[in-house]
Amino acid sequence: MKRREFLKTVATSFAAVTFSGCEPLGRDNKKRPNIIVIIGDDMGYSDIGCYGCKDIPTPNIDSIARKGVRFTNAYVTAPGCSPSRAGIMTGRYQQRFGHYYNPGPPPLGLQGHVGLPITEITIADVLKSAGYTTGAVGKWHLGLTPHFHPLNRGFDEFYGFLHGKHSYTDPGLGSFNPIMRGTTPVDEKEYLTDAFTREATSFIKRHRTQPFFLLLAYNAPHTPLQAPKRFQNSFEHIKNPKRRTYAAMLAAVDEGIGKVLTMLQELELQQDTLLFFINDNGGWGEDNPRDGSLNKPLRGGKGSFFEGGIRVPFMVQWPSRLSSGRTFDLPVISLDILPTISAVTGAKLPSDRIIDGVNLIPFLSGKKDLPHQSLFWFGWGKYAIREGNWKLVNTDGNIKLFDLAADIAESHDLSAEHPDVVKHLAKAYEAWNKQMIDPVWSRSVPKPKPKESNKNVVESDTGLDIQSDVTYTIKVKAKSSVGSGSRITLYCWCGFSGKKDIITSADYALTSSMEEISISFDSDSYAGRRLIFGYKFTAPSSDTKFYMNENINVTHTKKQPGPDPSAR
Ligand code: CA
Repeated sequence: MKRREFLKTVATSFAAVTFSGCEPLGRDNKKRPNIIVIIGDDMGYSDIGCYGCKDIPTPNIDSIARKGVRFTNAYVTAPGCSPSRAGIMTGRYQQRFGHYYNPGPPPLGLQGHVGLPITEITIADVLKSAGYTTGAVGKWHLGLTPHFHPLNRGFDEFYGFLHGKHSYTDPGLGSFNPIMRGTTPVDEKEYLTDAFTREATSFIKRHRTQPFFLLLAYNAPHTPLQAPKRFQNSFEHIKNPKRRTYAAMLAAVDEGIGKVLTMLQELELQQDTLLFFINDNGGWGEDNPRDGSLNKPLRGGKGSFFEGGIRVPFMVQWPSRLSSGRTFDLPVISLDILPTISAVTGAKLPSDRIIDGVNLIPFLSGKKDLPHQSLFWFGWGKYAIREGNWKLVNTDGNIKLFDLAADIAESHDLSAEHPDVVKHLAKAYEAWNKQMIDPVWSRSVPKPKPKESNKNVVESDTGLDIQSDVTYTIKVKAKSSVGSGSRITLYCWCGFSGKKDIITSADYALTSSMEEISISFDSDSYAGRRLIFGYKFTAPSSDTKFYMNENINVTHTKKQPGPDPSAR
């Protein structure tokens, strides 16, 4: 079914939908819950009080668990921002539509295919079609170009930024990634987390009389580490300066969520608002201390398929329908958010595609047993599968098997003891993987080859035929008559003058004293061809003079062996 047809069908078939696990809801707006999904960014698994944090108070986030259900085995679909969000927003493993990587900054990010494919249907599309007012506040990270903009993905309102991270203190006007209201860049003066809280509470207040969906995607505590002034001295008990700043950033998020919850209470909307909190992926964690986050007792962090990368804090509250203060210990995944929302609002899911998530309500009410037989992760040269308490992680062919019930830290590899389990899980993964497609875009655009302009390039045939399996290094000494602003570019070609192919080039700044510079390459692809060397000076002014020692030193050494594949 085409997208437009689907949306039309949703709009006309709403009243016929029934629910499992909770009562059917009528067209009466008062009975249709408001929906809020709050996403944290790169938060450590154990950086929230109800997940064991001791040094950073998070009373407001903790209150969601107290008033609702806290999941102890909850996952996202990727250990990185954008693919994880693609899963949340569609209820589908993002590998089904080739969304494996972050849309990078320009130039990659401005290519028209780099973003959540427009054939996908988002939570906002689904709810808007059912009559909800929809708003997104915060980080988007699902594409920079206009067709990927939130206002074209089901949202009525947007306040935030489109890329993957943002300064908390600089609005970035004039950059490719400004703060925007709708599609207009704005000069935001508040600390960014506070600005997002302000916009979120404003959205709730403005739309309190109608069913609404609010996506509140704080970018905190993702780097850059920038604390709000009012919390700068609040965490002096934390010795690690990165964690001290991180704690202050997290405090602002917690305070902001507190304001959202208070706003719901003041407007008497809390009882009938279904609110999820989830983190998009693990923090960098103890092993890669970039941000001061903690994932312990989980192994690994952001970027890893060990639990620290993909198991996240996840909780839901809906006081009028879900009993409070419970934990749910069976594996669930961020893909479940959309089907749950769909079931409780009557907004119909697309029927022309596989939705991987499940409606969690029947499981939370005890009417059903096991939300997922298996969960899968794939990409970046590795895969993982969890089935029951078994988890298999395959990193570039290096297979590890863990029993998560006995070993949440994934420290005891049981693959040698249970080859049958390894075989079964690998087979299950292969069957799943067959349904997935290749990446729609790669992690980065290849660097353009150096330009081969002959203008001002001095070229010399070295008379050397390139040998195989060695590394060539060419060294020269050069200086400029002025201390700064002069450059030299070195070139290596293979072939013949007038018909040659570039091997590599290197660019250096020159000073007023003679310095040695060099250029190297591995010979493999060029063996048997003539080595041609060249250089070009670039001057800050026409009267600049260059000096180069005529002694061009060409050496070759046996190529350094690469890493042993069997040792990885
Ligand atoms: Ca993230």
